[in-house]
Parts: sequence; C-alpha cells; structure tokens
Amino acid sequence: MSDSNALPIYKPEPSIAPLQSAFDFALSEWKRWCAEKGLPTFNAGQIYSWIFEKEVLSPDGFTNLSQATRTLLSEEFDWSLPGIESHLISKDTSEKFLLKTRDGNLVEMVVMPYENRTTLCISSQVGCRMGCTFCQTGKLGLMRNLSSGEILAQILLANRRLKELGHARGVTNIVFMGMGEPLDNYEAVLQACKTMVDPKAFGLSTARVTVSTSGLVPEIRRLAKDLPVRLAISLHTADDAKRSAMMPVNRTYSLDVLKEALLEYPAPKRYGITFEYVMIEGENDNILDAKKLVRFVHGLKAKVNLIPINHFPGIEMRRSEADRIQAFQKYLTDRSIPAPVRYSKGQDISGGCGQLAAKRKDELDRDPRELARERRRARRTESNASS
Ligand code: SAH
Ligand code: SF4
Repeated sequence: MSDSNALPIYKPEPSIAPLQSAFDFALSEWKRWCAEKGLPTFNAGQIYSWIFEKEVLSPDGFTNLSQATRTLLSEEFDWSLPGIESHLISKDTSEKFLLKTRDGNLVEMVVMPYENRTTLCISSQVGCRMGCTFCQTGKLGLMRNLSSGEILAQILLANRRLKELGHARGVTNIVFMGMGEPLDNYEAVLQACKTMVDPKAFGLSTARVTVSTSGLVPEIRRLAKDLPVRLAISLHTADDAKRSAMMPVNRTYSLDVLKEALLEYPAPKRYGITFEYVMIEGENDNILDAKKLVRFVHGLKAKVNLIPINHFPGIEMRRSEADRIQAFQKYLTDRSIPAPVRYSKGQDISGGCGQLAAKRKDELDRDPRELARERRRARRTESNASS
C-alpha cells in the first residue's frame, strides 16, 4: 500500500487535548469538583443540568452561575464535541454521521426519524474485539473504548441536528447498536445510561434505552442489578457449535449459561427481551434452526428481529432467499413468537446494522480488515513522530 493511501494524520490541538472533557463528569464528579473549588454543592446540579438537560454546551450560557465560576469552567474543561467528519443522508431519511474524537479516532452514529419517535443508534467503542464473522465492525478489531462523555456527545450532536431540521423533539429512543460491544465497556456505558434515564438529564425511560450485546453474561448480570434497561441479544443461531463458529463469545458463555442470565434479567415488562437474528443463506435459516430457536426462547418474553444479512466488502455470506425468511418467520409466529423481518434503515449509506466501520465516503467499498490495518499503521507512524 503506498503512503498516499494512508489516512491523514490528525494532530490534536496541544492546548485542548490535556483538558478534562466536561461531558465525562457524572453528577458526583461535579460535586467533588465544586467542593475542591470551594463552590456550593448545588452548583454541581446546575452545571450538570445545563449540559444534559438544557443542552447548553458552553459555560458562557450558564446564567445562574457567577461569572467567576463560568470562567473557571471554561478554563479547566474541554467543551468541544466530537467533530463531524462526514454526514450522509439516506433516501429513507435516516442520517449517518462519521464522528472524529479529539484523539483522531472515527466512530459512527445513525439518527433514524420515525413518525412517532426518533431513534439514535450509538457507538460505544472504536471498533470491536468480539470477532463475529458476519460483522464489519468486528473486522476492524478494537482500537479503544469510548468514554461516557463521548457516548453522550452523540445524543447532544443528534439533538442539535434534529433542531436544525426543525423537529419539535430530540432523540426519544437510544439503541447501542452502533460500533462496539457495549458490555465490553461496562463502566462508561453504565454511566452514560444513567445520564440518559436521569430526569435531571436526558430523562428517557429505561424502556427507551436498549443495550445490545453479543452475550457477555457476567455484565448482563451486573446490568440487571445496576440499571435494567432494555436488552437485545445478538443471537443469530441457537445451536452451540454454529454459534461458537460465528461468534467467539459463545465459546466462553454458551447458550445454556446465557439463557440462565436472561431468565433472571428484569426486562421492562411490556417488551421482554429482543433477539437479533441475522439471516444467512444456508447457515442458520432452515426449519431445524427455527426449531432450536423456539426451544431457546421458551420461558422468555421474546421478540425475534429477523435481519437479512447486510453485505460488505470481503465477506462471502449471502442473504437468505425471501421464501426461506418467510418460512422461518412463519414457524416462529405460528408459535406466538413475534418475528418481524427488519430490513435495516440507511442501507444506501451503509448505515445498516453490522455495516458500521467508520468509513469515509470514498472508503465504502473497501475491505474493513484492510482499512483497519492501514489505520493502525497511520496511528503508529503518528505516535512515533510525536515521541
Ligand atoms: N456488539 C453489540 C452491538 C452492535 S449491534 C451486538 O453485537 O449486539 C449491531 C447489530 O447488528 C447486532 O445485532 C449484530 O449482530 C448485527 N449485525 C452484525 N453484522 C451484521 C450484518 N452484516 N448484517 C446485519 N446485521 C448485522
Ligand atoms: Fe462486535 Fe457486535 Fe459486531 Fe459482534 S456483532 S463483532 S459483538 S459489534
């Protein structure tokens, strides 16, 4: 690969990079900061609510704080949101944003307006290390976790865009179905979820926040205790041998162990647990597969989303034929398991599930593995140059 193909090297502003991002602080951290500065504790709640409830993102606008406190906030914190590297609008009105973190990493989010709600699909990591064979993000490997502030910044950016479009309301639903395995970045994801459902912040109900996971059982159990938001499980097959081949996580947490944790998960009553099931021709789409799936979800309030696999450069797997999908769906619905077929939104802009690989416009037809190698090389060159 010639150097002309390497990504431009992003150099963070030296004056900005070392500052603490204001969006990473939980309320408790603002309280500690106020105490350190000799400020009244109630200032902490005010700052937190300016940011995450009123979405005013510069201390200049914090009108109930003294000028001295506003100046201190401006000086001690970084108030910048991730940059928007590119922005694609789909024919179906969903919009995909390629975001650049302040250290130059790329992640994606997708805003999906529907008639009665607006769903934001957010990323929790740069890449993912779980290695599922059918997933483009998985091909990138993991670069790093996002901080809670970087996760929440995606909502702030989406709301800003919705306002610009003239929408009366901001994001109403959040799904952790962008890049990354959210439960592999547990602490930051939990802190972000707490802010999402806090009435003094974004104020969403726990039923409107969905964490999607490939099945990290210990963290599912932790989430059950810490903050039982809605859960989506990327299942894709209910056959242990097949699942271990498609999803390495299954070699550590097999279907039995996963099922046990799901039976104990206090999912919001009306919704139960959602299962994501990518339909891959000849792999997991016959009636025997459907039978195993029915057995697996027995005893759970389950909905199964059937997702014809989205293609990306470098994979051989093909989408199941329409009649296969229909027969599979019928097998489930005949047994009272809701099983809508979900054609991902935003496919024309590669915004569909499993298509997220933080690609720039001119990279959409690139093999994600090759792209990841190139990015790693560029970052190594960058860190060698700066050391
Ligand atoms: N890591 C989490 C969150 C990512 S969500 C998880 O796996 O649940 C992304 C969703 O898209 C998951 O359900 C994933 O299984 C699904 N997916 C991955 N690759 C896909 C593809 N090529 N086509 C359709 N869906 C895919
Ligand atoms: Fe990671 Fe989810 Fe993709 Fe698997 S499906 S590689 S867990 S993002």
